Amino acid sequence: MQLLTHWIDGHACPAASGDALPVFNPTDGSQYAQVARGDAQDVEAAIRAAHRAFPAWSALRNSQRAGWLEKLAQALENHLEEFARAESLDGGKPYRLARDIEIPRAIANLRFFSHAATQFASQSHHGEAGLNYTLRVPLGVVATISPWNLPLYLFTWKIAPALAAGNTVVAKPSEVTPLTATMLGQLAAEIELPAGVLNIVHGRGDEAGQALVEHPQVRAVSFTGSTAVGRRIAAVAAPQLKKVSLELGGKNPTLVFADSDWRAQLPTLVRSAFQNAGQICLCGSRLLVEASIYQQFRDAFVARVAELRVGAPDDQYTDIGPLVSQAHFDKVSQCLRIAHDEGARVLLGGEPLDRNGWYIAPTVLEGLGPDCRSNREEIFGPVVTLQPFEDEAHALALANASDYGLAAMLWTSDLSRAHRLAARLNTGIVWINSWLLRDLRTPFGGSAASGLGREGGMEAMRFFTEARNVCLDIGEAQ
Ligand code: NAP
Repeated sequence: MQLLTHWIDGHACPAASGDALPVFNPTDGSQYAQVARGDAQDVEAAIRAAHRAFPAWSALRNSQRAGWLEKLAQALENHLEEFARAESLDGGKPYRLARDIEIPRAIANLRFFSHAATQFASQSHHGEAGLNYTLRVPLGVVATISPWNLPLYLFTWKIAPALAAGNTVVAKPSEVTPLTATMLGQLAAEIELPAGVLNIVHGRGDEAGQALVEHPQVRAVSFTGSTAVGRRIAAVAAPQLKKVSLELGGKNPTLVFADSDWRAQLPTLVRSAFQNAGQICLCGSRLLVEASIYQQFRDAFVARVAELRVGAPDDQYTDIGPLVSQAHFDKVSQCLRIAHDEGARVLLGGEPLDRNGWYIAPTVLEGLGPDCRSNREEIFGPVVTLQPFEDEAHALALANASDYGLAAMLWTSDLSRAHRLAARLNTGIVWINSWLLRDLRTPFGGSAASGLGREGGMEAMRFFTEARNVCLDIGEAQ
């Protein structure tokens, strides 16, 4: 059976312990590969390699590092379909989604930060006390830890700015979806990216991931994943005064006002709830609908969701594939049981599908208040709740009734209302009459239980560098 290896110091290598973990195909639960089970020994080897590579990599001109990222982007583009098939196999997502959105976005991430490397500049300050200019210095060896839901998309979203800014990287993908990161390691070796610049260590979060966060030579940790693990990482990093960037969970509200063009926008509204079987941190899982249109909206929305085709990821007509793993399937199934116990009215779905693989029926629930667990806890599956609201103040109160603060979607044709609400929604991102429209220069991230810090554009370049102010006394003007 195929072994997915680490990439350390430019070489493919198994775990030092010789151990491996099984990798499963979500469509039928069968094991299709195994992946190196990294631990502290592998992390140590990767960090040593990254440390050795740092002086030469950080001394390159920005344009030279940009050239490497472009080369990697081009190599990935040359293998787009192969990567899309692998992503679809590993995570159970529709092949179409991987081919048309996720792998292209991974390529775009590498290209975007290739350009960012050449555009990155710092400030100078004068006229008050001396002449000051600020150097932005790379940190050294940094760690990136990414989840299973958008494997290569989020992996590249982190490694690209880290490398562009002059750091060397030890990256840990999720053990659940290790395939495309391993393939990217192979591509990096093929283009002869200098050894040690990008190291990939597989393994369990509480073994390889934990060892990486604890290691004193890791100067920063960029993490995307659950709020519970984010808190753990923050607690380990804090005593070492390590920089951390935490992109965590969400329970995003979608506000639909009567004055919106909601009928025309139904395809986007459905997609914003169910894309990738709801396993996207930015999906809207709480639909808040103005009472005057609630019934019409509910019926039209449910009818549209019922048309979603649940099936095999490689079928070109499939909209929703299986969930990613047995563990996640069990978690979402448990959330559905909780919703039943809380008295949810099931408008559609509500249970696992009776077929091989980790399939859950697209589910629409109503009759649950803002304090129910179903409306407070992240489910991260094809499950949405509907709640009516009376007016703008009520909509805002319901939207903000969450410990999370990642994204909010606002559907209205009243421009003043849209801007008024955008300023008062407690989230890091607000989409007005749109969803997942992404300009990679914008700050990306959430507040409260959704995280700490921002990624994207220059925010990421600043995160992966340290500011050093240089001040020269140039005397008083005569
Ligand atoms: P997770 O369980 O928190 O895992 C995320 C990553 O952290 C994985 O690589 C995991 O490794 C690793 N990890 C686990 N325990 C660790 C530890 N003690 N120390 C260091 N690393 C550790 O999250 P997930 O289930 O993969 O992903 C789903 C979550 O990600 C959802 O909550 C979702 O909202 C969130 N998410 C947020 C964003 C955002 O931008 N805000 C984007 C996407 C996803 P293993 O998997 O190998 O154990």
